[in-house]
Amino acid sequence: MQLADVKQLPTRDEVDPKFTWDLTPIYATTADFEGDFNKVQEAIPELEDLRGSLATGADQLLHAIQSILSVIRRAEKVYVYASLKHDENTGNAENQALSGRTQTLFTSLESAIAWFEPELLAIDKATLDNMLAQNSTLGEYKHYLDTITDQRDHVLAPNEEKLLAQAGDALGTASNTFGVLNDADLEFPVVEDNDGQAVQLSQGVYDQLIQSTKPAVREMAFKQLYAVYHQFRHTLASTLAGNVKTHNFNAQVRYYADAREAALSGNHIPVSVYDTLVKAVNAHLPLLHRYVALRKRILGLSDLHMYDLYTPITGEPQLTYTYETARDEALKALDVMGPDYLSHVKTAFDSRWIDVVENQGKRSGGYSSGMYDTAPYILLNWQDNLESLYTLVHEMGHSMHSYYSSHNQPYQYGDYSIFVAEIASTTNETLLTDYLLKTYDEPQVQAFVLNHYLDGFKGTVFRQTQFAEFEQFIHEEDAAGHPLTADHLSDYYLKLNQRYYGDAVQSDPEIADEWARIPHFYYNYYVYQYATGFAAANTLADRILSGDTSKRDAYLNYLKSGSSDYPIEVMKKAGVDMSQETYLDQAFDQFEARLNQFEKLVEREGKR
Ligand SMILES: [Zn+2]
Repeated sequence: MQLADVKQLPTRDEVDPKFTWDLTPIYATTADFEGDFNKVQEAIPELEDLRGSLATGADQLLHAIQSILSVIRRAEKVYVYASLKHDENTGNAENQALSGRTQTLFTSLESAIAWFEPELLAIDKATLDNMLAQNSTLGEYKHYLDTITDQRDHVLAPNEEKLLAQAGDALGTASNTFGVLNDADLEFPVVEDNDGQAVQLSQGVYDQLIQSTKPAVREMAFKQLYAVYHQFRHTLASTLAGNVKTHNFNAQVRYYADAREAALSGNHIPVSVYDTLVKAVNAHLPLLHRYVALRKRILGLSDLHMYDLYTPITGEPQLTYTYETARDEALKALDVMGPDYLSHVKTAFDSRWIDVVENQGKRSGGYSSGMYDTAPYILLNWQDNLESLYTLVHEMGHSMHSYYSSHNQPYQYGDYSIFVAEIASTTNETLLTDYLLKTYDEPQVQAFVLNHYLDGFKGTVFRQTQFAEFEQFIHEEDAAGHPLTADHLSDYYLKLNQRYYGDAVQSDPEIADEWARIPHFYYNYYVYQYATGFAAANTLADRILSGDTSKRDAYLNYLKSGSSDYPIEVMKKAGVDMSQETYLDQAFDQFEARLNQFEKLVEREGKR
């Protein structure tokens, strides 16, 4: 970093309190925190004592569930406080200690209740149904118990489970090795940055340079980065294959049809949701090809390369927002959600749920974080631009989801699964996009907002589905006994990439190795949820914007549902059936409409 770039951030103490979150509603004093911390610590051994009691009767089962959940509930409050304190200044030793102690507390809590699920699963279905019928309070936990006992057919005999648990560490080696190699051991060469300065390439620097407005800078970063991955491609194929083998092994010994079914069963998602996504995205690839071709025209390049896909094609508009004006804009953009939703958004602003400005040691990025007994806090690192406004409404979407879930559901259903989480945040972003397009006529703003949307759609719906296809391919290949060699992986990846981006982009040979650097391929069928979530949010935003209040209320019902039902069922009630293709078609219609709008705008501007 050059000296001139170093901006002096305020210390935490120097930040105006009105721009900081107020954590006193969680614990007014450190003594209150310590009090709850000790209560959790003292309760942990008592949870161990409940072992062996579940099958003895409905009352005993209820008592065990309630005891365990009440300790977790308190522990979560302790955790939120400690982690928020930690993140407001990660350099503060006191906060580091709080967070470290809380992590240890959670580890001992988890190991003290590790017996619960196996013991519950050992109770046969008829006996458990009988218990649920006997005790109506226990009946309130039926869905909670269902989500555990759904796995019954895939749980092995106690000795076999023990063996698998013991092998767990060893089975994780491939994934760990990838992490160590990718994060620590890989060394990248020195390249040139935008100002012609030598800079040490790293994953973070690459993400910056690939967005450079100078083609030569992007090209050098791209080629140098991939040269390193190419050099290690056999090792990286081996770590990826090892990880895939672990998934396939686990699925096989647990009697799943395949690794994908095993992974999706965790959230009770039918595999048809996955197949429907892949099919619909493939049917709409011509839209991506059009967008890529447009990018080529705007950038005025004779050849568009894979390293030209991330550079901005519209300048940042001269729209600046202070946090205060952004607040007003957010309220206007979210007005379509109705008075109830809006009143809670106002509470988020007025009750200081938001930590706004950057300070020394503060965690970077943005997030929403809260648990059942705390407000859903938001961490931001505010910059006076449109990106920050998008982040604000995104995180507000998560926070409102948390707020509605925890205020409308009992504790056991007060959270929500990852499958539905990003839908609430992306819906808000889509509403903001709509609001901005309707409010600001200036071509530069229109172009920026449209492109923000199109890029988001490209990176989320198209790219993550491309990843999902690759993930499915490698699992199937391994299951069929085909070795996952580097050449095999790269051959397939290059063809897949060509199919996705089409003829307008050069098929740079380096991109064949992209699979080697994607950590998400070690996550086990995770990425498809980004794509389904984004598309669902698009469709939901459309429904809300239709002005039909019953559609808006259906959406609010989704926010209020928490985890009281399976994710697919919750989304059905919101108005989106994710097992059918319709919601995807609607999202692609929206993408196409905005692509048309963007094309027209760019052509008109070009003629001026
Ligand atoms: Zn999010």
